[in-house]
Amino acid sequence: MRGWVTQASCRYLDDVEKNFFFPVRSDSEEAAHALRICEFCPVIRECLYEQLCRDVAHPRAVNDRWEEIFGGTRSRERRAIAVWVCKSGKSLDEVFDLIAAGARPCEGDCGRLLRPQGVRAGAMPGTVAIAAGGMCKKCRWKKSE
Ligand code: SF4
Ligand SMILES: [Zn+2]
Repeated sequence: MRGWVTQASCRYLDDVEKNFFFPVRSDSEEAAHALRICEFCPVIRECLYEQLCRDVAHPRAVNDRWEEIFGGTRSRERRAIAVWVCKSGKSLDEVFDLIAAGARPCEGDCGRLLRPQGVRAGAMPGTVAIAAGGMCKKCRWKKSE
């Protein structure tokens, strides 16, 4: 067994709470609850790493998959991170550092990573500024067309 699994915060939850990690809707209270549990999980990095590796290796399975919370991210967010990893040529470890520093994938379809409000471009190379609605300027503009 992978050693880190024994430290997972979701490991000893009851069945009701475990189901929160597979919510019907990604913006539901259940999903928010699961994300809060991940936030304080000591093995969030290992968990996200493993899931991202699966997503990169099996992109078709990801597209068909229902909502699943892993490593503090929703399916859609992991999909965007996986696309960004492939496009940017960065290693997963580099991406982790960016995610840990608050970078998030654009909610549009550009596959780019947004840096948090107020952070300079030079402090997070390879990221773009956030415009509104969790999107970069380009995706925001495309959506309002
Ligand atoms: S990060 Fe979340 S899904 Fe992953 S092991 Fe921890 S609590 Fe479970
Ligand atoms: Zn975008």
